Amino acid sequence: MTVQDTITSNHQDIISACQLSTDETTGGALAVTTPVDGSVIANVHVHSVEDADAMIAKGVEAFKAWRKVPAPRRGELVRLLGEELRAEKENLGRLVTLECGKIYQEGLGEVQEMIDICDFAVGLSRQLYGLTIASERPGHTMRETWHPNGICGIITAFNFPVAPWCWNAALALVCGDPVIAKPSEKTPLTQLAVQKICDRAMAKFGSDAPEGLIQSLIGEREVGQALTASKDVAIISATGSVPMGKAVAADMSKRLGKTILELGGNNAMIVAPSADLDMALRAIVFSAVGTAGQRCTSLRRLIVHEDIYDTLMPRLIKVYAGLKVGSPLAPTTLVGPLIDQGSMNQMNKALEQAKVEGGKVHGGGQTLAADYPDAAYVSPAIVEMPEQSAIMHTETFAPILYAVKYSDLDEAIALQNAVPQGLSSCIFSTDVRETEEFLSAVGSDCGIANVNIGPSGAEIGGAFGGEKETGGGRESGSDAWKSYMRRQTSTVNYSRELPLAQGIVFDI
Ligand code: NAD
Repeated sequence: MTVQDTITSNHQDIISACQLSTDETTGGALAVTTPVDGSVIANVHVHSVEDADAMIAKGVEAFKAWRKVPAPRRGELVRLLGEELRAEKENLGRLVTLECGKIYQEGLGEVQEMIDICDFAVGLSRQLYGLTIASERPGHTMRETWHPNGICGIITAFNFPVAPWCWNAALALVCGDPVIAKPSEKTPLTQLAVQKICDRAMAKFGSDAPEGLIQSLIGEREVGQALTASKDVAIISATGSVPMGKAVAADMSKRLGKTILELGGNNAMIVAPSADLDMALRAIVFSAVGTAGQRCTSLRRLIVHEDIYDTLMPRLIKVYAGLKVGSPLAPTTLVGPLIDQGSMNQMNKALEQAKVEGGKVHGGGQTLAADYPDAAYVSPAIVEMPEQSAIMHTETFAPILYAVKYSDLDEAIALQNAVPQGLSSCIFSTDVRETEEFLSAVGSDCGIANVNIGPSGAEIGGAFGGEKETGGGRESGSDAWKSYMRRQTSTVNYSRELPLAQGIVFDI
């Protein structure tokens, strides 16, 4: 199917191209609507809490076998998964677009991230290294080893229905952990399609892949809570809103389980007087309106130096006015719909609040209502604010970009850091003194800090995650794999004496 065909193909063709059968997509209790036109595209079957417990029991058995498979061999399964994903990139990318509403190019990008993390994890499977450490005792060695940890429950959000699953699953699998996915109740179809792809990879891999190694749990928060409640789920990696993360953290703390939390962001860009404004403009628009402002890393706050504010803002407002909003399946669309009308109402409420706080709103409001009355297409909004007031401290999951002026860099950094979230941040400047200060210990307090790049669109090679209310978790590249393993320190005595550490004398 070519890109052009995607405009004309109907929703059911997109679903069946992912090899989902009518049995799987009809007759179930969970209605799935597409943000493209608001229509119901499937009724999927949901799992009960008892089903979740049965999956956990299968995962426990799978762990006993999988932890014994050598890590490079486990990597072979992930390599096969990457191959299957390459073959399915267009079909799955189109289903991502249909189910969560991001434009097709971004749907493809999400699947590419899955492929990239599979490649990364295959190499990693031969690099799960520990340390040797000098012992203070003669005839002793000390070492640190990383072992598989147990089931990893992967709870994910609607806006990235497939990539975060894979950031977690690819690493967890090479680390020796079975995985149980719990996708958003708004986007279960993509997870069902991913499960099929995994099943094909496991069939090619052979009998070393135990039953229950990769499972998908479909349902609302109750089934997610079954994962957080079970002591047999060693790790919960949860991606979603801050309130969800707080609930998951509270449940996990009752049993002192491990968490990887990837929660909301409220990301800023500082535009300094020396910035290349052409580059800044492109970065602002992509990161503020990409995925219709529904990325955890979306640009939400623009902090612009007072000397260039009046040059940049009219240009930006003009570009916004010309942005093509429309069906995410059409190749010329840059801004697709919001996930649902609830999100549109949240956007409208935030814009009203911004006005009360002194904001001047450009854009915003429902659009294309005549063509898509049941969908939630909106015009992206820019709001010029007199100061960083209360509304700018919250994450509204919609394309609203607030702009404020600053006069010196310390003030800009203080504004950037003043919000409760700490995911992504960036500065546009060609002054190395400014950019280095922004990246220093007194600079951005976020997990991601970029220079002359917008806050969204991270590569998988680096660790991904944020501080403060974003949850502190790290996924994807660098040494994020360590969160999926347990660390063991071993001291071995090969001498004929038994000296105690710290020189303690204990003669018997
Ligand atoms: P959400 O918090 O409503 O739901 C996320 C997932 O958590 C869903 O699968 C949901 O069923 C589950 N869930 C909710 N409460 C739960 C509980 N108590 N126990 C177990 N599971 C529970 O989020 P959403 O609306 O789907 O996604 C948008 C949010 O996700 C935004 O805040 C966005 O910033 C954030 N997000 C963060 C990242 C990141 O990597 N930091 C990535 C994507 C999205």
